Amino acid sequence: MMETDAVMAETSAFINQNHKLFIGADRQSARSGRTLDVYNPATGKVITQVPAGDKEDVNLAVAAARQAFDDSDWSRLKPADRERLLWRLADLIEQNAELLAEIESIDNGKSKAIAQAVDIQLAINFLRYMAGWATKIEGHTVNPSLPFMPGAEVFACTTREAVGVVGAIVAWNFPLLLACWKLGPALATGCTVVLKPAEETPLTALKLGELIQEAGYPTGVVNIVTGEGHEAGAALSAHPDVDKLTFTGSTEVGKLIGKAAMDSMTRVTLELGGKSPTIVMPDADLTIAAQGAANAIFLNHGQVCCAGSRLYVHKKHFDRVVADVSDIAANLPLGHGLDANAQMGPLVSARQQQRVQDYINQGLEAGARATVGGQAYEGDGYYVNPTVLVDVDQQSAVTREEIFGPVLVAMPFDDMDEAIRIANDSQYGLGASIWSNNLSEVHRMIPRIKSGSVWVNCHTALDPSLPFGGFKQSGLGREMGREVLEYYTEVKSVVINL
Ligand code: NAD
Repeated sequence: MMETDAVMAETSAFINQNHKLFIGADRQSARSGRTLDVYNPATGKVITQVPAGDKEDVNLAVAAARQAFDDSDWSRLKPADRERLLWRLADLIEQNAELLAEIESIDNGKSKAIAQAVDIQLAINFLRYMAGWATKIEGHTVNPSLPFMPGAEVFACTTREAVGVVGAIVAWNFPLLLACWKLGPALATGCTVVLKPAEETPLTALKLGELIQEAGYPTGVVNIVTGEGHEAGAALSAHPDVDKLTFTGSTEVGKLIGKAAMDSMTRVTLELGGKSPTIVMPDADLTIAAQGAANAIFLNHGQVCCAGSRLYVHKKHFDRVVADVSDIAANLPLGHGLDANAQMGPLVSARQQQRVQDYINQGLEAGARATVGGQAYEGDGYYVNPTVLVDVDQQSAVTREEIFGPVLVAMPFDDMDEAIRIANDSQYGLGASIWSNNLSEVHRMIPRIKSGSVWVNCHTALDPSLPFGGFKQSGLGREMGREVLEYYTEVKSVVINL
């Protein structure tokens, strides 16, 4: 159990409670009785247990979601009522923002202050944005010619209907926010949900379950099954009565989920990995670009799907920008998420720490040079020293594969064509940033970059109004923006022969 002195009494009471699944009206342990240990990444100590849900629990959760979708108060609610409920949920998250941030910090390792300002605030903003869409889901009238119905007078229109039961499987890097990215459009459109949080970070999802009940959502609208990916996650993705799957995580698991979805023709959207380039052009403001490049990779300790993990700098500025980014990295104090002076916390798990350090070692063995970091962290907790690698090439594993930690590879380029070629030379296409004050050059570059987001003189500029998702192996479909509604609704064509 967790030591209670470092956190609010409310936080330790929540963490130490006997955690249960949310299935319909039922708050139960896993049917198998098994549990999963939850670790504090800053200490490596077990802080609590959650139920290890499996196929049996998922079957019950999907049945509860189906019942709620087909025949319940929820299915009869008006759009304005769904809007009001989402606002109420956002208000409750706001009222509990510090508690949620503290739980997230202890569970994931991230800074409490950043969790509150970024994760929790973005979740609130997003739910409020989606609440507005609940009353604006509409089709349109059409005027078909119907040549095989000569002389017919018809009224024709399209309607948009909620897709049904949504299976949502999320990763551990922004646990509450990623869950809300799925819940927002599902609840705005009238779907019901079975949520499977990551096994590393299940706690804020369970707190969210309490807030969803408090907001007044009818029974079975949101069901939460904690458990392992290969058990609960696999069962959810193969379930024939799930109408839509939405996933955030690795490309490898995303492909498994996509294949499982196709067997039942389940709709599927996938928000997967990335290896996003940060491109510093000749006339960029170098001080701003260096700070921006450092933020692009070191935010959330590099555990961001669109992290700027490849830095390409015009050759005349390469040494200066790399020196500045390395300086910034060298001055990022490491420490646990409740330490207000720490600017970089531990990674989420011992496994992730090992995986990231293995990549660094592999890069160094292949001839790369670390301008900062490189050496393994010594001490308790899953920390990795922020690292910048130079003398790498475009074909090396550290340049091509998603490391998902505070590791930046940096390379020079000669001209715009080369910058675009190497930026696009990746299986991924999630985000890219261009740092330049040359407006016409920027406009010429944007259409040539193959990624779902392009940021200019900023990076990871996410907002509820902007669709987010990937080209190539970074995923399928989009989250956020008005575009997300298409993925949570079916369109129906209606023709009435008058
Ligand atoms: P993962 O893809 O294995 O896990 C993400 C979610 O998928 C978790 O909820 C997990 O339980 C579930 N899952 C795992 N196996 C499953 C299966 N067979 N069927 C259904 N669900 C399954 O991610 P990870 O192992 O935690 O991290 C591995 C790598 O994924 C990271 O190092 C990083 O490269 C990448 N990642 C990307 C993102 C992103 O936002 N794009 C987030 C986290 C991790």
